[in-house]
Amino acid sequence: MKLMEYQGKDLFRRVGIPTPRGTFATTPDAVATFIAENPGSWVLKSQVLMGGRGKAGGIKFADDAAQGKALATELIGKVLRNIQNPDGEEVKSLLVEEKVSIASEAYVSITIDRATKKPVVMVTAQGGMDVEEVAAEHPDAISYYWIDPAAGYSPFVGRELAFAAKLPAGYHKAFPKIVGALYDMFMTFGASLVEINPLVLTADGSVIASDAKVDLDDNGLYKHPDIAAWNKQSPADEDQAAAVAIGLGMSNYAKLDGSIGVIANGAGLGMGTMDAIRIAGGSAANFLDIGGGAQAELVKKSYALVVSDPKVKALFINIFGGITRGDQVARGIVEALGGDDLRKVPLVVRLTGTNAKEGLEILAAAGYVPVETMDEGAARAVALAQGAN
Ligand code: GDP
Ligand code: MN
Repeated sequence: MKLMEYQGKDLFRRVGIPTPRGTFATTPDAVATFIAENPGSWVLKSQVLMGGRGKAGGIKFADDAAQGKALATELIGKVLRNIQNPDGEEVKSLLVEEKVSIASEAYVSITIDRATKKPVVMVTAQGGMDVEEVAAEHPDAISYYWIDPAAGYSPFVGRELAFAAKLPAGYHKAFPKIVGALYDMFMTFGASLVEINPLVLTADGSVIASDAKVDLDDNGLYKHPDIAAWNKQSPADEDQAAAVAIGLGMSNYAKLDGSIGVIANGAGLGMGTMDAIRIAGGSAANFLDIGGGAQAELVKKSYALVVSDPKVKALFINIFGGITRGDQVARGIVEALGGDDLRKVPLVVRLTGTNAKEGLEILAAAGYVPVETMDEGAARAVALAQGAN
């Protein structure tokens, strides 16, 4: 799970990494009110998951409420793009932060080094710009330290790194503590990446995290339900928002380029279904994983979501019942098809496993003849989608 900057900084504050004061805002009026109440110079920072916002025009400076409102109006709703993110990402919220006066910009991150299977701390005095560029053109400017998780972090690591990376003297006192806090956060929250770029040395001599890039391992999220819930609050794109809106997880629905809608239970079966469609000569328009134990209501909503995609010319529902019961799935399908509010597309259903017999009876009573195997279903869906063209 990738965190937005404001969420990453929330975690920074929990471990004691200094961040600029500020507020989170979703409307130009909120920005204006905040600046009116807190006169000074502020930075408006687009909250998106993509990096390189500065170069994409997503970071603006405002000196008063009117300017803040105008810039916020410009930013909210704008799609930011850069070379790394040609598809772009729409700005839905802003972080309004005190503008700090920058004396120096450093870079520090911790990731897992797959080769040594240890957390590695990377530091360079050339922060602020793409670290990939620094790595490519000045590889010696980056210093590394591999932390032995059994031994943990000691402040000498931060001191060594500060000297090795030739950080300006102003960093030296604060740096070991900040790296220690970053390591603490990395371990506590099960991160795969924590990055501060830039770690700013201000004109008045303090060291402060001006940006935050944090990636948490999804497998550890259950230990932090408050953070896992952020996921639902800020889906990164429309597909994710659509999935969350009907009560699914945000990665349960994805749009693709083909013409066949796919509903399956479980990501593995979904991938298998898409392969079967591919082998049969077609391709999936989207893929929705209804998860385990779906009730009729969820099946109905899932059906509606999938056929709302105009690319869908035929729909293949492939259910291997375990926790998911065939009768519930069948009832959802029949209810969805019974309403006249939904677009109708040719439908292929394969239902097996728990309560498959009951499910098949419900489908048969409503006039649908399901297929026996996944391959048969894929072939029929491809034929129907082509026939519909
Ligand atoms: P990114 O482009 O997505 O990595 O966004 P950053 O948060 O790193 O901001 C990009 C750049 O904007 C920074 O490298 C700074 O040069 C500039 N910037 C951001 N915040 C401030 C600030 O408070 N003061 C000044 N002077 N520049 C800032
Ligand atoms: Mn940055």
